[in-house]
Amino acid sequence: MGKSKKAHFQHFMNLNVRGLELSATLAINEKSNKLRSEGKNIYKLGLGQSPFPVPESVVEALRQNAHQKDYLPVKGLPKLREAITEFNLITEKVQFEPENIMIGPGSKELIFLLQLVYYGDLIIPTPSWVSYSPQAKIIGRNVHWVQTKKENQWRLTPEKLEEICESDPERPRIVILNYPSNPTGYTYPLERLKQLAQVARKYRVILVSDEIYGMLHHNNKHVSIARFYPEGTIISSGLSKWCGAGGWRLGTFSFPEELSWLQNALAVVASETFTSTSAPIQYAAIRAFQMGDDIDLYLHHSRRILKTIAKNITHTLNNIYVDVQLPHGGFYIFPDFGYYKDKLAKKGVTSSYELCNKILSETGVAMLPGSDFGRDQSELTCRIAYVDFDGKRALEYADKHPDLGNGFMDEVSPNIKCAIEKLGNWLCDL
Ligand code: PMP
Repeated sequence: MGKSKKAHFQHFMNLNVRGLELSATLAINEKSNKLRSEGKNIYKLGLGQSPFPVPESVVEALRQNAHQKDYLPVKGLPKLREAITEFNLITEKVQFEPENIMIGPGSKELIFLLQLVYYGDLIIPTPSWVSYSPQAKIIGRNVHWVQTKKENQWRLTPEKLEEICESDPERPRIVILNYPSNPTGYTYPLERLKQLAQVARKYRVILVSDEIYGMLHHNNKHVSIARFYPEGTIISSGLSKWCGAGGWRLGTFSFPEELSWLQNALAVVASETFTSTSAPIQYAAIRAFQMGDDIDLYLHHSRRILKTIAKNITHTLNNIYVDVQLPHGGFYIFPDFGYYKDKLAKKGVTSSYELCNKILSETGVAMLPGSDFGRDQSELTCRIAYVDFDGKRALEYADKHPDLGNGFMDEVSPNIKCAIEKLGNWLCDL
């Protein structure tokens, strides 16, 4: 095609999309892969993907359902929605009717559709997961990043939420709370959830409770805010994290009856876009949400493994003045390298982006800069996804060792151990 024709077409690109780049997490993964293919030793602490295999019984259910070929109902397979109702009751102690469950090809897509059908500002704390804000931008919604404090484990406070809402009480808003959080790994204490729920109710905000890491709370103590604001909370979850099935693309929204009109609106758009989520995957997902002894054990070991690695990294980083506390769940930590600010500035590093780039090219350790999660460019925070280990081996090891003490890191996650050592040496050599 001639240049001028290309320019002609490009001229009409949707303004909301122009200038947006490939999702940050995917971009770091591609860069890491490229360096690896050039023969460099790369420690992949960038992309947040579960290292654990999908439980065998769930894989078997998928095999058994490979022949399922029909389009399914837009909102999802009725038996699966029943299984999720049960699952919510057992794991979250919250009641959602099967007809109020919606299945989508990943919770990412469902969050996007919600932002599309509900005309509200998006309220998210900084730092937040990388995709909420670009989704709002694509649709043309206002994004309100709420400042948080490291001392408060980067959480949204009820006071801040109240301040925003009372400035224009009738304005429609979607607040997304994600806990345990990507990127910080921290969660909200019960009291905080209650206080936030009170504010949300007062201003009738739509609360999306992104609990995709809920089942990976390291002490199995996850509590949903839906218990305290049931009428306005949509629980967002799916198979991607706790079931190790990110590539299967199955996400879930659990709506309260009061918001069934919103679910119906979502279903209309779904029916005109993706139609329904892949049939074999939905059938297999029934097995996952039905749980059982094998899955309980899988989750028990997953939590132990993640907790042990998190403890190890946090301890090592704290010893070299990197500021971070023990995370509560999931597989991320969000350390602050501010202690090294002056030394880094002398090397020309003044932003988290430059810090991550330099560390990647000089040590092979891939992390994501805090600025990708909405933090100020100049703040030296980064996200570490501690997933560069063989999840299958780790589960086997955990099954044989009641105590994951000495030797675990060397045996099971030598890459992570080595990556953190390299990072430490690099910092000490500054
Ligand atoms: N929310 C958070 C906080 C996430 O980290 C992710 C995946 N990285 C998602 C939602 C989307 O997950 P999926 O689309 O695979 O359900």
